[in-house]
Amino acid sequence: MSTPSTLADLHPYLYNGTQSCTERVTCFLQNIESKKHLNAFLSVFSNEALDRARLVDEKIKQGTAGKLAGLVVGIKDVLAYENHPLQASSKILDGFISKYTATAVERLLNEDAIIIGRQNCDEFAMGSSNESSAFGPVLNDIDNTRVPGGSSGGSAVAVMADMCDVSLGSDTGGSVRQPAAFCGIYGLKPTYSRISRHGLVAYGSSFDCIGVFSKTLETMARVLEVIAGPDEFDSTVSRKAVPHFEDALQDTSKKFRIAYLEDALHADAVQAEIKEALKIKIDQLKAGGHTVEGIDFALSEYILPTYYILATAEASSNLSRYDGVRYGYRSANTRDLQSMYKKTRAEGFGKEVQRRILLGTFVLSASYYDAYYTKAQKVRRLIREQTKQALARYDFIISPTTPTTAFKISEHTNNPVEMYLADLFSVHANVAGVPAISVPCGFDSRGLPIGLQVTANDFDEAGLFQFSKVIRNLA
Ligand code: GLN
Repeated sequence: MSTPSTLADLHPYLYNGTQSCTERVTCFLQNIESKKHLNAFLSVFSNEALDRARLVDEKIKQGTAGKLAGLVVGIKDVLAYENHPLQASSKILDGFISKYTATAVERLLNEDAIIIGRQNCDEFAMGSSNESSAFGPVLNDIDNTRVPGGSSGGSAVAVMADMCDVSLGSDTGGSVRQPAAFCGIYGLKPTYSRISRHGLVAYGSSFDCIGVFSKTLETMARVLEVIAGPDEFDSTVSRKAVPHFEDALQDTSKKFRIAYLEDALHADAVQAEIKEALKIKIDQLKAGGHTVEGIDFALSEYILPTYYILATAEASSNLSRYDGVRYGYRSANTRDLQSMYKKTRAEGFGKEVQRRILLGTFVLSASYYDAYYTKAQKVRRLIREQTKQALARYDFIISPTTPTTAFKISEHTNNPVEMYLADLFSVHANVAGVPAISVPCGFDSRGLPIGLQVTANDFDEAGLFQFSKVIRNLA
């Protein structure tokens, strides 16, 4: 099957009768089956997706189909979908079935998108390689000995390997952008509060964002427009009007002011070919008439520690609800209530999640609260202020999305700090709350994709789309 390159192409395709939604879903289901070894899906909703496709085909014939008619979407296993399993790739949620549908998923369905399945991820979205899932690792489709990135690895691979048009993932510290970079596709983390978190399994609530994976900017823009905006179930969602994001893609003549992180071009931790790819883009942008200048971000060394202190603190509190009483798994043969809690959590959570809960509980404990938690909150505010200052002078900040291309399976599993360094560039946007996108930016000498990250000011996703198209046209 040749996948249409844009949603604008997708529509005539479906409307002129060349291919029906039912045929498209059938093709995606065949790809899912033939690429089962990648372990991208935890559940495939085959019959249901086909039933829905028939319904959408009928609506298209009658002229009553919605904005996303026929778009085939996969959802990360942290998004609730009524009467479907939801486990955050964890044993502790064994057998749990969602009682309601996440707002973002509901809005897709209202516009006639088709949900094809639930996708593998790191347990509770904690990780950068998709190796901490209770259902085993996801493999990168370009090289099966390498990771797809994480935590939304299954969602990235599903789009990369044509198992669906679009995936919804979650990005707390880079979990959409980092796997998008490792898989050579677009990955967007919108502004914090742009999309309702209702129905998203909580990890670090002040960082968590639903994000979108796609092979095209046009589809991504349309999907964001549908899922963004106020929601009575999440009071933290912004009331700001949601623009018609596709309009931004019409004009590519604008000249921008762009800052790049000077550090990224010199740091030893960054792979040489990634630095080279960034340099090439900088030169091309300058040649295209844009203003591009290097900046030093004074607080850069504090970004990763700030993130890991605050995200683990929030996680330890959010995950306290999994106690064997209210959800999923409960340990058998326990003596009393205390031992039931302890055994359930010890058996139900994997190693990485336990490490995060311990870290988070430590930084919130009475003796260390001020030294770590309070201090990190203050540093977070300073990071946000500095970021906003930079974004007052420049339209965008560009950097690599990741310091390296996709690494080998098991390469960093015994060294959590090495794993955390995979988030070196991506956590910044979450700490500051601003939107960022990973744009495909060529390949290294092994043929592994490189991602370029673009960060914009609060609520300027339209600018991100517009500038991403400029970058796409440079290629
Ligand atoms: N890798 C980061 C972490 O483990 C980010 C995860 C995410 O964005 N969900 O916290």
